Order: sequence, then C-alpha cells, then structure tokens
Amino acid sequence: MPHPKFSLDGFCDLGAKVLDQLYPSWCVLCENELSGGRSICDSCHDLLPPISAPFCQVCSEPFQGKIDGEFKCPNCADLKFAFDFARSGMMRDPQTLEIIHRLKYGREIHLASELARLAAQAFLDPRFELSLAEKWPLIPVPLHYRRMQHRHFNQAAEIGRSLAKLADLPLLFALKRVRNTTTQTLLSRKQRLDNLRGAFALTKSGSKWLSKQRSGAILIDDILTTGSTVDACSKQLRRAGFSHVHVVTVMRG
Ligand SMILES: [Zn+2]
Ligand SMILES: [Zn+2]
Repeated sequence: MPHPKFSLDGFCDLGAKVLDQLYPSWCVLCENELSGGRSICDSCHDLLPPISAPFCQVCSEPFQGKIDGEFKCPNCADLKFAFDFARSGMMRDPQTLEIIHRLKYGREIHLASELARLAAQAFLDPRFELSLAEKWPLIPVPLHYRRMQHRHFNQAAEIGRSLAKLADLPLLFALKRVRNTTTQTLLSRKQRLDNLRGAFALTKSGSKWLSKQRSGAILIDDILTTGSTVDACSKQLRRAGFSHVHVVTVMRG
C-alpha cells in the first residue's frame, strides 16, 4: 500500500514549485504574474519597438522620416562589409537593452528565448526568404574562452539556440575566438578593426559543415553597434567558403 502522504499529485506540485523557482513566473518588465514559461507579458512585449521601414539596407539603422525606396545610411555609404546585410529585430530602446543586460550580466538565461523571439522579428524581412528556405546555419558570434570562463555562457549562443528552434534552422558553432580582444566600446572604427584582426577562426564543426555542402550562413549576435565584430566574423566565414553571410541581431545599438 502506498504511503498515505505520498501521491503523484504531490510530485506534480513539487515539480511546479521547482519550475517556478527556475523560471520566474512574473514579467521581467512590469512584474505582473505570468504562466507558460514566458518571461515577458504580451502587453510589455507589444510595447517594445521593432525596426520598421525606412531603415538602412546595410546596417538596419532606422531613419525618422519619409524615404521612398531603399537607402543606405551615411555611415554605410562609404563602407564595404563582408556580410550582405545586417538586420536587427528591434530598435534601440532602454527596455530591450535591459533584457539583454539581464541575460548577459545578470545571467538570467531564461531570457534568451524572449530575446530570440525579438530577434525573430528580423526574419519578417523578405531578404531572409532564401536563407530560411535553404536552412542556412545560424552561427553565434563566439566569446573568448577566458571571457567564457568568467561569464560561464555566451549570450549570442543562448539566443541562437532558441532562435534556431523558433525558425527551424541548424545551429552551428562554426567560429571560435583565437585571440582575446580588448573591449571595443571606447575604440575608434580603425582601432576596432586592428583589434579584431585575426581574432576569429573556423572550428572543426565549421569545416565539417563546409566539407559536406556549400551554403550561406546567418550570424547571430545580441546587439549591432558599429558592425566591426560581425564584419570580422563574416570575413572569416567567407574566406572559409560560406557563399554569403547575413547578420541578425536582437537590437540595433
Ligand atoms: Zn509585462
Ligand atoms: Zn547603415
């Protein structure tokens, strides 16, 4: 006879309690209660601003005002990148940035799936039609192992993992950082490029992929600022044999 105090219901309650502890059941922005494993409620989600036209065809910097047809922002007009275009899902916005920071520095890994949902807005752009149909691999911008040791996870990889599931794309760790780079924040564009030279290399998984097929690649990162990091990654991927590189990020920084 089973112990009178022991029941499967008890187990389920315990399971739910454990899950509630692992995944907070309140919205990270307004603190209203939530269910179903979400971390942002629908009303907060709908208030976060996605990028909409007009925006730069290269870096997706939004433009306030009316422009007919495609345009390049003044920044991109004289630059040549190794990627075809970079498309962020969301505009620069304090709340989107807060969610990114809470994942990155607060290690709230459950936020990666919400950020993937925000990044997925970028895929509504018709320029992704071919890459989504051909299932190009989603490649996260890598962190150096020393920063990885300190932070224990790579936010781009976590967002990429969720986005790959959402968009039904293969996730491929094709790049590694072979040289630790100093933080880019205070550097000029020229200094950033020097800082990133030779920083990335193809991994074994990357070369294995390329030995079986020739495809394009979709690079994924959290924020696009100057584009120097994704450009350095794209150069490496193109050199290795990927036919095209498209870039997707959660937010335009
Ligand atoms: Zn909310
Ligand atoms: Zn631009």
